[in-house]
Amino acid sequence: MQMLQGTYMDHLHTLSTEIGCRPVGSEANHEASHYIEEVLRNAEINVDIQEFEVPNWRLNEAFIEVDGYRLEALANGFSESVEVSGSIVSFCTIEELSASQNLQGKIALLYGELSKENYVPKGFTIYNPEHHQRVIQLLEEKNPSAILFVRMEKEINQPLINDWDFFIPSLTVSPEVGLTIKNSPSTSSVKCVIKSRRKEGKTKNIIGKINGYGTEKIILTAHYDTVFNTDGAFDNASGVAVVLSLAEELSKRSDWHTSFEFIFFSSEEFLGLGDEIYLKAYRNDLPQALVAMNFDGIGQSLGTNNVTLMSGSNEFESYVKAIKGKFPAVQWTAPWYESNHYTFFSNGVPSIPFSNCGVLNLLHTVDDTIKWISKDKLTEVFSLANEIIKSLQGKTREWTSKPQ
Ligand SMILES: [Zn+2]
Repeated sequence: MQMLQGTYMDHLHTLSTEIGCRPVGSEANHEASHYIEEVLRNAEINVDIQEFEVPNWRLNEAFIEVDGYRLEALANGFSESVEVSGSIVSFCTIEELSASQNLQGKIALLYGELSKENYVPKGFTIYNPEHHQRVIQLLEEKNPSAILFVRMEKEINQPLINDWDFFIPSLTVSPEVGLTIKNSPSTSSVKCVIKSRRKEGKTKNIIGKINGYGTEKIILTAHYDTVFNTDGAFDNASGVAVVLSLAEELSKRSDWHTSFEFIFFSSEEFLGLGDEIYLKAYRNDLPQALVAMNFDGIGQSLGTNNVTLMSGSNEFESYVKAIKGKFPAVQWTAPWYESNHYTFFSNGVPSIPFSNCGVLNLLHTVDDTIKWISKDKLTEVFSLANEIIKSLQGKTREWTSKPQ
């Protein structure tokens, strides 16, 4: 196989270090989509752009004060601005919150059972547990002036909720800060300050296309947006870098049997809106897809790259496993039901997600930087994907997909 001159490290560097944090609607998100589009056009690949509306939210400052002492707090993503002082009312179960009176003018502190996991945004339809919806609904009913969620893990510094449809100003605090507030006397006053601004914004899916002479196509996907407060090197500049490099590599030949579609999704991190927009326009073409290969969080130096097949035929599975056999450091993993491949797998398209089990708690944090990613580990995924793609030339959808 012809080796690239480390182009995926260049893509990775541009996206994660030069552009950096690129949440939907932000200037950096536009820079990233522009970069992806340029790379595709330079490789003479046709590009289809799907633009859609999202909020453009920016945070200037967030903190809290307890009896005049400033303590660290993280504004939750998309939170409204606020500057309010009030007394604290704390809750640790749904029952306790439900029994509470109206909380207007008060600050709600949510800890224990109520803050042990991240809240799924209201608008997320694929997976939205009832107890999350119930807590959010109760909070909207009781309507506190602000909410403090206590993060129940010591090492993780990320918001418990990022929801542009939830309008009560809210922050996430560490367990230490949560404890200080919980132990403070009832006469204490707590001040919450969030200085943010929210405007209407836009983001884009970028879809590159190479035409083959057959009717089948191979879909390669990676999301390029990030959450707030992270460079998103592992999640998911790594995946974008490899798909861009595969696009560049595949564009060098003009005699492919299959067509190729390279989809760079936005808003995967927020409601999966990019997937919805894509399906609206492309749903009828799905039966032509031999496979959708998704790359999300790959190439960690200290991690194991992994791969699996979902909704594929037994023949296809043995085939992919045989190719994987040439890459002994890659692990065959259990199917997983998140990220962009879900969109394809749930619509019957055989799907191959590539991921990496690496250092825990890196995802969605300030520590997710380029230093954790290695060229060798990206090469491994690139080469494995490239081999699968080549071996699929001349195959049919009947062959790749599970008999219904
Ligand atoms: Zn991701």
